Amino acid sequence: MSLLSVQGLGKSFGGVHAVDGIDFTLHRGELLALIGPNGAGKSTTFNMINGQLRADRGSVMLDNQNLVGLHARQICRKGVGRTFQIAETFLSLSVIENVQMALLSHTRNIFSFFKSAAAFQRKEALELLHQVGMADQADRPISELAYSDVKRVELAIALATQPTLLLMDEPTAGMAPAERNALMALTKKLVVERQVAVLFTEHSMDVVFAYADRVIVLARGRLIAQGSPEEIRVNPEVQRVYFGSGATFEDFNA
Ligand code: ADP
Ligand code: MG
Repeated sequence: MSLLSVQGLGKSFGGVHAVDGIDFTLHRGELLALIGPNGAGKSTTFNMINGQLRADRGSVMLDNQNLVGLHARQICRKGVGRTFQIAETFLSLSVIENVQMALLSHTRNIFSFFKSAAAFQRKEALELLHQVGMADQADRPISELAYSDVKRVELAIALATQPTLLLMDEPTAGMAPAERNALMALTKKLVVERQVAVLFTEHSMDVVFAYADRVIVLARGRLIAQGSPEEIRVNPEVQRVYFGSGATFEDFNA
């Protein structure tokens, strides 16, 4: 059975149908890419699932519970995590302090009575940093890290809420190709190990075709195709949306 089931989901801004009634499912342990040209409605879709935006219509079922109408924080508590850019004010804190803060805010209800909460969470924070390959840099200030390492820490922070579904809107934005591949390889590993479901957007088709288990394609708010990376790569409708007639992903990547 699928973890997430989106049905008839829609949102308009004024006269613009940003997302115009889309259906898709996502399973535990699956890495699903949501692709489409700029303005296709990808971010709007993410924000309806995580509760930043309220859907005009349709449903977002997580384990048979409809998330539409819940607040972002309630949706987070139900196991829907997302990657955030680390805020400016936290850059002076160390890597591990950032992860500890994420752990503390998630478990605050349970541990608020314990003065030693921060110390207690250090072990868990280190374990998360270990999983993203950043344990050896735990005590450095974030501001000293390479950009791609900051992205790894952001992933650890997202994992601190113990998501069953993780939403990643353009996680590799601003990264060089080799770094994009490294971050997605890491994400793929976590998907398999933790059996979390991941929905992500990504501009590089090489990355999408290399790492996604399945791909769904949005254009002007509508879902125009879904399938395996191989099926999407050769789908004429998808190629037309991206390149007009004639060109293919092969031409584009060459
Ligand atoms: P994508 O992430 O695929 O680039 P978006 O979901 O950001 O696309 O945007 C889809 C459409 O909705 C675009 O036409 C965009 O201009 C419009 N849109 C998105 N957010 C808003 C908003 N808050 N107010 C008005 N229009 C918006
Ligand atoms: Mg977007």
